[in-house]
Amino acid sequence: MLAFLIMVICFSRRWALSVLSYSTAKSPFRPEIKAFIGQCRTERKTGLECLNCGSLNDKDTYVGKGFFVQKCDQCPYYIATKGSLFRMFRFFGSAFDDPDPYYWDAKFHNLPYSRLYKGNYVSDPKKLAFFLLDEFGEALNEFNRSRIRDFESNWWFPKKLRSSADIEQAPNGLPDKEKPKNESATKNPIAITTVLMSVIIGTIYASTSFDRGHWVTFIFIGYPILMFLYLAIFLLVKRFLKNRKT
Ligand SMILES: [Zn+2]
Repeated sequence: MLAFLIMVICFSRRWALSVLSYSTAKSPFRPEIKAFIGQCRTERKTGLECLNCGSLNDKDTYVGKGFFVQKCDQCPYYIATKGSLFRMFRFFGSAFDDPDPYYWDAKFHNLPYSRLYKGNYVSDPKKLAFFLLDEFGEALNEFNRSRIRDFESNWWFPKKLRSSADIEQAPNGLPDKEKPKNESATKNPIAITTVLMSVIIGTIYASTSFDRGHWVTFIFIGYPILMFLYLAIFLLVKRFLKNRKT
């Protein structure tokens, strides 16, 4: 009984995290690192070592929610601590689960480094990361797109609502029972509920200053509320559609 309960909790938590990840990836309010750097007020602070050119001078510093980035004064690279890089990845990449599976080996001018997903280099002994803003920004956008793709390739996800065309061809290995039945997205209650939930969660996420740790706590305690909310909206939408038809 206890094992079953734990299984249900783990499954629900994973499900809630993936909904949250999808919602923020899709949200029009999703923060982007390039916009963040463009709008952030800078302060001149003691510089981290630039691992591209070696500069140790004071640098312009951009401080965000739980992380900071410095712009090298001598070369085009941006510098962050390893911890900041991971927090930026979660924040700008809509990654709520553990990013460790995306951490792998990389080479920079034939020197051994690590890399979190794409578009950055990390020195593990120095716990420092560096990246070009365009490359890292594009890698984060790509990661967001992959989150959306993964979620929308679930067999139950309404085809009409899928945002990327390439999903249509994506093999998902499941029998295709969900053939489009001339059903427009505007009449599908699951579709409408998912969009409404995305907007609600995306708005809450963008308008609070919660860091990722708080969100995970919130999800852990609050996933029954999220599921309840989902169900409530679903029933309302269904009722609304029924009323409109008659
Ligand atoms: Zn530099």
